[in-house]
Formats: sequence, C-alpha cells, structure tokens
Amino acid sequence: MKTLETLTFECETGNYHTFCPISCVAWLYQKIEDSFFLVVGTKTCGYFLQNALGVTIFAEPRYAMAESEEGDISAQLNDQEELGRICLQIKRDRNPSVIIWIGTCTTEIIKMDLEGIGPKLEKDLGIPIIVARANGLDYAFTQGEDTVLAAMTHRCPEYNVLKHKQEKDLVRGLGVNLAKTTVSYSNKQESDDCILVLFGSLPSTVASQLNPELERQSIRVSGWLPSQRYTELPPLGKGVYVCGINPFLSRTATTLMRRRKCQLIGAPFPIGPDGTRAWIEKICSVFNRKPHGLEERENQIWIGLKDYIGIVTGRSIFFMGDNLLEISIARFLIRCGMIVYEIGIPYMDKRYQAAELSLLRDTCIKMNTPMPRIVEKPDNYNQMQRMHELKPDLAITGMAHANPLEARGIDTKWSVEFTFAQIHGFTNARDVLELVTRPLRRNTDLGCLGWNNLSKQAIAI
Ligand code: SF4
Repeated sequence: MKTLETLTFECETGNYHTFCPISCVAWLYQKIEDSFFLVVGTKTCGYFLQNALGVTIFAEPRYAMAESEEGDISAQLNDQEELGRICLQIKRDRNPSVIIWIGTCTTEIIKMDLEGIGPKLEKDLGIPIIVARANGLDYAFTQGEDTVLAAMTHRCPEYNVLKHKQEKDLVRGLGVNLAKTTVSYSNKQESDDCILVLFGSLPSTVASQLNPELERQSIRVSGWLPSQRYTELPPLGKGVYVCGINPFLSRTATTLMRRRKCQLIGAPFPIGPDGTRAWIEKICSVFNRKPHGLEERENQIWIGLKDYIGIVTGRSIFFMGDNLLEISIARFLIRCGMIVYEIGIPYMDKRYQAAELSLLRDTCIKMNTPMPRIVEKPDNYNQMQRMHELKPDLAITGMAHANPLEARGIDTKWSVEFTFAQIHGFTNARDVLELVTRPLRRNTDLGCLGWNNLSKQAIAI
C-alpha cells in the first residue's frame, strides 16, 4: 500500500449494510429512565426491532410500535385520533414523563405531519411529546441518537446567566466566610466559573467515570444531554460550553450552537487513552486550566494494555463502516501499532470531526504508518474486492458479511458490539482491545487445525 502524506477521502455509492437508526430506542429508553419511545412505522420496522433488540423485547421495554394500517396510508383514518388513542394508553399504563415519537420511512413517504400533530396532542394529554425523524432514508444506525438528542435540545430549560451569577456570588460569599475551614476555595471558585454540558448517551457507569476525570482538572460537568431523567435536562443557552463524547452527534452539535447559542468545544473523542487525554486537554485549554497528571495517567493505561498490544502490533485491519465510530477506533488502533487499510464510514462531518481527523493524521505520522483511505457511503461489493486484494488480518463488519468472510479466511469482529460495549474513557480502553483481539486470539488457538478456508469459491481462487 502506498504511503500518503494526507488523509484521502472518497465517496462511493452508499450500498452498504447498517442498522436502521430506529435501533437507538434500544439504548435511549434504558438511559432516559422516565421516557417512552413510540416508533410510528410498519411491520418492517417492527420485525427489525424485534430481531435486532434480542431478549430485551421480553423485559416489557419502554418502547413500542404504532403499526400503520391500510387505512392510515390511504388517509381514511385520522392520524391525530389514532396517535392520541395510543398515547393515552401509554400514559395510562406507564405514565412516562415524555413520549418520543420516532418517525420512520413510511411516515416520511406518506408525509405524516408528526411535528404538527405532536404539539396538539401534547396539550390534550398534558405530557411532552418529542418528534425525532430517525428513518432509514436519511440516516444510519447511531445517527438515530443524533436526531433524538437534536430534538431534545429544544426542551432543555434556558440557562439564566444572571441567576447563575447570583447563586455563584452567594456561594462565594459563603465561601469567604468558610474560607478558614475550606481548603479548596480557589478550586471551587474556578470550577464554578465554567458551565460545561456533555452531550451523548453513555451508560451511567461510564458517565460517572468521565465526570471525575474532569473534576481532577477542576472542571465540573454541569449536566449531560440526555440526563438520566427527562425532568433533569440541563439548562442551555449563551455562556454554556458543550462538548460531544461521540462522533455521530453532528446534528446535535449544530442545533446546540445555532438554536441554543451554546459554544461548542471541538475535541477528539474520549475513546482510547490517547483520545481521552486529548479530549480532556482540549476542554482544559478552553477553560484556561493547565492539565496536571494527564501524561502519567495516559502512560499508566498504556502499560496496562501491553499484553493486548503485543497481539495487535503489526496486524492489518479493514473497517467496512456502519456506525460512525470508525475514525476514533481506527485512530486508537493505529496508536496500538495496527495498520488500517480502509475506514468505511456512513457519513463524514469533517467539521464536527475535525479534531479527531487531525489526531488521526498526527497518530499515523507518529507511528510511521500509511494513512488509511476514508470511504464515505461505502459500497460493500467494492469493499469485498478490495479486501480480497489486501487480505487484512481483521475486518470490522456487520453480521451480513462476518460469516462469509470468516469462511474465506479473514477474521472478523462484529461492528455493532462497539456501539453497545463500554469504550469511553481511560479505564475502558481495555474493553476495546478485548473486542478487537478476540477473533485474533481465537484463531491463534484454532489455527493449527488448518480449516481456515472453507469456502469453495475461495478455494477455487
Ligand atoms: S429502514 Fe425504514 S422501513 Fe426499515 S426499519 Fe428503518 S425506518 Fe423502518
């Protein structure tokens, strides 16, 4: 493979496998404890959810399908009445604090006016209704979360600078009185000056690991979008800094900046020890804090990863691309010594991912590895041809291609696992490598059996 000086971007046909974005209900209903998700679609969407979300469907989840019938499509039934009836039932049975309608391909095509009906029913039922168009026509997989969070930003209370200042003064007043007994008054003061809201849905265990990482640098996280409960959404407005923790939240970032007037901190994403350090350092630089102890912390984590790094160093990897986490994971793996041939990605927002892309470039230079080609909207068929030539040691791919590739002697890792595993922050770097090395370790164990190539087609070639 040719060594390139800069990153190259290509765009293909968009003929690739990915999950439908309505799958975001799987993790969002668990994150926002008092929510209910109603997917307004057809049996196709229902079948997908039922199969993709596996055993959770037996646990009385807080999501449901409103399945359109012939009468809905031909407008013989009244959309508002039908949805009103369903939402009333949800209110009666589950009493959630918010109902989130997920628009689908069908509601787009028949032009169901969800945004128009929502506010009317909200008034009638006395329960907030948020509309997110997470359909398969416009978005891929994790972008579903992006549409929900972008819609949710409008429901966050307004941040009141004056009120905040008064409260701060009050605390400071008390601080002066208590100064003799309080050791860290100056730290507290510093920490109160910045209003930082992090956006992106993370399991609360991971969120509670990232908060103290910033607290160590005297930066207090004022809130998360989404919060654990809908009723606890963080105040937003002028003077509030926001920072994303996931690479697929570009719409949310834009809405936060344009509609809520927040200031966006463009940082690499906290995936891998290198990414986490760069993420914290960027936030520190915005708040004029000198980061302390970060380098040692990062080095410590790298030392702890030595056993895994031994397995991956020098191995090559190919990302087919389906969840938008690809750039960050590839960057971390390059830092671990891997060679990345191609990074397929469904959608590339070069502005939102600018810091991550420049970290990727710097990492390639630092590790002296070829720059990977970045392929937006990949074509799975072409990718197969390229993989046939390049013969990577590992392919990160969806379930559709995993077994066929395994049968042709290419190890695979199912990409969806990266979306559901805990991969953020210093402490979870091990989990990423645990996932990546699993197929490699398995095949070291089974390699001696000599059954690596089981496809007739591959044998013929
Ligand atoms: S792609 Fe469209 S029709 Fe298919 S499951 Fe998703 S929203 Fe439903």
